Amino acid sequence: QVMELLADLQREYNMGLILITHDLGVVADVADKIAVMYAGRIVETAPVKQLYAAPAHPYTRGLLDSIPRLDRKGQELYAIKGLPPNMAQVPQGCAFHPRCPMAQDVCRTELPPLAEVGAGRGSACHFWKETLDEHAA
Ligand code: SF4
Repeated sequence: QVMELLADLQREYNMGLILITHDLGVVADVADKIAVMYAGRIVETAPVKQLYAAPAHPYTRGLLDSIPRLDRKGQELYAIKGLPPNMAQVPQGCAFHPRCPMAQDVCRTELPPLAEVGAGRGSACHFWKETLDEHAA
């Protein structure tokens, strides 16, 4: 009901709307574009359909895999390993590396820039191509 009310207000006043949520499932139907943040930084940004169809960052992929789905009923729900970082001691390099299943040595030392990975899409991952390919496989 709240989401419908927000959508009505948005239409009525022709205004932009920014939603901040921990639940990617909530915004699937209402957002045009999504920016995924980790440790205070945007790590992926994309039009909503592209992001759900093929995430270009392992953290986004982990978030999507952890959404309960009817077609996976009875299967164990995926959980990203570890815990979010202490913001007073954010890991060097890519802040997600202690939890990332794709982490390599470069991830521990070099902060990946938010690179353009397609029209209107960005990913802050050294291995965004492999992440896209792995999802497509
Ligand atoms: S840069 Fe490395 S650690 Fe960070 S998300 Fe990409 S693969 Fe994982």
